[in-house]
Amino acid sequence: MLVVMRHGATTDEVRLVVATIEEMGYEARPMPGRQRTTVGLVGNDGHVEGSRIAALPGVAELIHVTKPYKQVSREWRSEPTVVRLAGGITIGGPEVAIMAGPCSVESESQVLEAARAVRAAGATILRGGAFKPRSSPYAFHGLGIEALRYLSEARDRTGLPTITEVMEPNQVDIVAEYADILQIGTRNMQNYSLLNAVGRVARPVMLKRGFGATVEEFLMAAEYIVAAGNPNVILCERGIRTFETYTRNTMDLAAVPVLHMLTHLPVIVDPSHATGKRWLVRPLALGGVAVGADGVMVEVHPDPDSALSDSEQQLDLAAFAALMRDLLPVHEHVRHLHDNVEAGASGVAAPGNGDGLSRH
Ligand code: PEP
Ligand code: MN
Repeated sequence: MLVVMRHGATTDEVRLVVATIEEMGYEARPMPGRQRTTVGLVGNDGHVEGSRIAALPGVAELIHVTKPYKQVSREWRSEPTVVRLAGGITIGGPEVAIMAGPCSVESESQVLEAARAVRAAGATILRGGAFKPRSSPYAFHGLGIEALRYLSEARDRTGLPTITEVMEPNQVDIVAEYADILQIGTRNMQNYSLLNAVGRVARPVMLKRGFGATVEEFLMAAEYIVAAGNPNVILCERGIRTFETYTRNTMDLAAVPVLHMLTHLPVIVDPSHATGKRWLVRPLALGGVAVGADGVMVEVHPDPDSALSDSEQQLDLAAFAALMRDLLPVHEHVRHLHDNVEAGASGVAAPGNGDGLSRH
């Protein structure tokens, strides 16, 4: 439930709402906003009888969020979440976030060469896998901690913040020590102990959509991380499994505006894992930005044909630079078109299955 305070409500009035919520056995999350303060009530599994709170001074209205995900919903927070990294890099702000780099960190020189090239081409974040989830137990599984060191060395040399995957709760601390953003891969989207573990660290988390997950399941997984205490979550559409086998997965482009309507979290697309084919990365990256994605993740390797993983889908340095030359103007062109994409503000009616809200 969300308690919306009146415009100009005093600090004492907000404090009384917080105290009352706690007395009722729930947790209170005060959220000062540009217009007015709201206080979120969490810890309930079902309807909360709110007449006691509604009667408090300074309370304007109570909003019951009936969806299973609450804190990540647009109703909970209408302003977009902007994830901020060192060096002024943002995800979910006016700039498009470009995460680029090799599928796997293979050596110090490989990741540094990729980092320098993607940075020169306009990337804002360096990616590189250290712990690799592979479908085959016999495939290359990454260099682990050695790769984390090479990645952070490349960060120090280029100034690019880094993102890398964490696969298990016991890797969270070490990955958080070396990397700026923790990635949860598609195979782990519903690994609840991992979601809880990354919810407890002071590092942004990029959650990739499970390849068989609905949008609602995706948002509930994100809710786990936020509910555990970490508000800096980025969502990534990386393709889902359908009957189509020409592409590795099917990139669900509609998920981008759908997610923007349902949640305040930033949404990025990963056309590399979505398509599995080098020549398809470019059109789908452009398409993702065109439909309003806040960023793109692209796999880039100095010599893709010799890559130890995902060789078929990695761009070489020149192809990535060429993509960037076309991608940035597309973002420039569309950014204002998507400013209003949020429930009720887009001028387009919300979907007929209801917005999950009941107002009292
Ligand atoms: C990756 O980005 O390195 C990765 C393994 O992606 P996904 O989890 O989407 O397959
Ligand atoms: Mn990969």
